[in-house]
Amino acid sequence: MTTSEDRSMLLPIEPLDRVLGDRTARSFAKNLGLGTVSDLLMHFPRRYSTRGELTPISEIPLGEPATVVADIVEVRERRMKGRSGSILEVRITDGHGFMTLSFFNQSWRQKELRTGARGLFAGKVSSYQGKLQLAHPDYELFPEEISDEDAKRWADLPIPIYPAASSVTTWAIQRSMAVVLDTIGPIQDELPVEVVELNRLLSLDEAIRNIHRPEKHADWQAARETLKFHEAFALQATLLLRRAENQHIKATPRVAGAGKLLEQFDDSLPFKLTNGQISVGQEIAADLGKSHPMNRLLQGEVGSGKTLVALRAMLTVADSGGQSALLAPTEVLAAQHYRSIEKTLGHDLAKELGLTLLTGQMNTADRKRAMLQLVSGKARVVVGTHALIAEKVEFLDLGLIVIDEQHRFGVEQREALRLKGKQPPHVLTMTATPIPRTLAVTVFGDLDISTLTELPAGRQGISSHVVQLSQPALVARTWQRIAEEVAKGRQAFVVCPRIDEDDPGEELIESGGAAEDELTFLDGTDAQAADFAKKPKQLLASALGMTESLRKVPSLNGLSIETLHGRMTSEEKADVMARFAAREIDVLVSTTVIEVGVDVPNATVMVILDADRFGVSQLHQLRGRVGRGGNPGLCLLLTSAEDGSLALERVNAVAKTLDGFELSEIDLELRREGDVLGQSQSGGRSSLKLLRVLHDAKLIQDVRGQVEAILSADPTLEKHPNLAEALARQDQDRQAYLAKG
Ligand code: ADP
Ligand code: MG
Repeated sequence: MTTSEDRSMLLPIEPLDRVLGDRTARSFAKNLGLGTVSDLLMHFPRRYSTRGELTPISEIPLGEPATVVADIVEVRERRMKGRSGSILEVRITDGHGFMTLSFFNQSWRQKELRTGARGLFAGKVSSYQGKLQLAHPDYELFPEEISDEDAKRWADLPIPIYPAASSVTTWAIQRSMAVVLDTIGPIQDELPVEVVELNRLLSLDEAIRNIHRPEKHADWQAARETLKFHEAFALQATLLLRRAENQHIKATPRVAGAGKLLEQFDDSLPFKLTNGQISVGQEIAADLGKSHPMNRLLQGEVGSGKTLVALRAMLTVADSGGQSALLAPTEVLAAQHYRSIEKTLGHDLAKELGLTLLTGQMNTADRKRAMLQLVSGKARVVVGTHALIAEKVEFLDLGLIVIDEQHRFGVEQREALRLKGKQPPHVLTMTATPIPRTLAVTVFGDLDISTLTELPAGRQGISSHVVQLSQPALVARTWQRIAEEVAKGRQAFVVCPRIDEDDPGEELIESGGAAEDELTFLDGTDAQAADFAKKPKQLLASALGMTESLRKVPSLNGLSIETLHGRMTSEEKADVMARFAAREIDVLVSTTVIEVGVDVPNATVMVILDADRFGVSQLHQLRGRVGRGGNPGLCLLLTSAEDGSLALERVNAVAKTLDGFELSEIDLELRREGDVLGQSQSGGRSSLKLLRVLHDAKLIQDVRGQVEAILSADPTLEKHPNLAEALARQDQDRQAYLAKG
């Protein structure tokens, strides 16, 4: 590496409009979220179509994607029969056979699809009235004066297929990419030259150019490996730097003892702490006693007693006179935590601590009162939702933030809360979606990690079974099982993916996420997306509809069946939960609002409808609501997924094991990585693109070692200005993203 580095030669971050013009830039920003030249260059092809294996039209298999080189021989437009709209039909030939392209209501394409033009046409081939047809194919026309030889060369080039949007096609992206690549000078590597050499990487410049404009397949393959390495490197450098920075931030040490609150609490516990709870408790106590903030992740199965560990940490802080905030992802969960903490603490201790609840749906008077408790320092333990982050909420001396459920709080929210302390508070994050330790270190590399592996003694376990809707006898048996449990004095949950017919069911499976919905990927082979699309949303079970239906099921006659969902007010929700806890309700039909933490030990059976619509970890979380008391739990996963489908496979996987680690691996495989990392690491747009946390675990581990070596020799990256600059830019990107949203 030379000392005269030109920083302008790192990935250019100038706005796209300077290179592509206003209109294109606006459209790219709106439809693809790409704002800068760097954004565009980092928008990688999803796959490459194989031109070398172009199929002659006469041999094209029906129903499969194919690309042909052909000439347009005829173009005509006709009105649709029986309804409004037009069809543009374009007949093409490759000299061996004929095929018709059809476009609905896209008359304007006549301007470019003219008789005599030659190009590449890609799509899925079907047969219509005995004729081969490509509906809405992708195409790219050759320049008019192309020679046969050039056409051959063209045909051998791998075609990058980009994640596109309906209004920005993959070809449009490809064209703009070419403009950008031709405009910019060589891109400077941010990696130290030794790293590039040691790992036999391409230069960044070559990698970027080759991933977008490969001349052969080996080009983009090598480019991907290099860019993947860059991603792993940036991720680990960010995490390790963050971790190092944390050591320099001052925090108030919090040591138990003075107030004797923890001691008092431990003495009053009706059970013995598990060994895990003891040792994790010690780790946390040691962290809290240090003069820089704790940043710890506590992983543990549902029911492993994490909340209790957190509560003991809060008591430690209270002992030293500080305040703690427990942040829950939903209103129901916050209220539930509040009640169960109150119960666990006992009336006197709860009062002494000024235990307070603060949620967004509380009425103004209650909220004001709660906020006063916080700012005066009277409340030493507060439980709440996002409302705790609201600007107006102030603490007297916030010492500890406990975040329940890692996945749901982004870094921006954690940052906002951190700023509430006079000095940054200690942070404990809890997750019931544990991942293997080796993996956790690489993914949550800025956090220290504690894991609770054992469940408290006396747990009876949960058995899970899949019930396919195609077996009506089993479905009837499902309702009967509920009746049997209720007859024994137990209670049941019935979980539905939607509230009512109007509810789009936004709580659905994370992997089907909105981003994928919006983007029309041209290869359409994503098995999961296909699975996901199978069942129209209007057919999904809804909590309100199900409540009505269950009330009519003969075997459930006379049972008290009520509904709980996210559109109810917090009073309504609290009321239903309280009545369920008091056994006034036998069957609670709900949405995933009960997903985490809801603790009614008397509930022994859970039926999950359209189980295939939920994520693996989500199902695991849900079923953790039963089998919490002294009685075994039963979870019945109802699904209309068909034999052999990926959806059924996923549900079967959940039924087969209770091991959260195993399930989270399955989940990791199925989910997009951005979700895995949470917003905390991915920070929206700068989320991982090529790196797959599970698949590339070895690479990530290896890279981490290399980054550690560099940072130990050069902790502030003084000698690696390019790397420092690139990381700073990513950080800015993340900040900008956070500021927006
Ligand atoms: P998690 O948050 O990990 O899902 P909780 O902390 O909510 O688990 O604990 C689940 C239940 O187990 C609670 O009712 C809690 O009081 C109880 N519990 C926690 N620790 C123990 C223990 N050591 N022995 C017996 N019961 C325990
Ligand atoms: Mg919990």
